[in-house]
Amino acid sequence: MVTISKTSKGTPLLLNDGFCYILDHKTDEKILWKCEVQRKLNCHARLHTSLDNKVILKLIDTHNHSGNARSQHIRQFYENMKDEALQNHINPYNVLTQCYMGVPDEIRAILPNNSNLKRDVRRWRQDK
Ligand SMILES: [Zn+2]
Repeated sequence: MVTISKTSKGTPLLLNDGFCYILDHKTDEKILWKCEVQRKLNCHARLHTSLDNKVILKLIDTHNHSGNARSQHIRQFYENMKDEALQNHINPYNVLTQCYMGVPDEIRAILPNNSNLKRDVRRWRQDK
């Protein structure tokens, strides 16, 4: 399954199978992604998707490191929460309730506790 998120710098990030890919370039027919740690770990894994990001057309090379489905989930949770916090003017408790929907129990269990998460929501809003 392909999920599109954003990096902390606001550039697109593709999540697949516990691996993160950053946008490499775009052609008329497809989008080319490269492994997020390409430079750091010299990983050559790449991925091509259709322009709407819904279909993986090609996987090139394998990663020379292991993926982490858990950190992917957590990262995604944070991204959702941040979007929710900045876009909707609902109170932090409701932001959390909204974001918890669809989050598997095993992921919930490893997330920081609610008061920490609510503090993050307030902080993001202040930083804006
Ligand atoms: Zn890689």
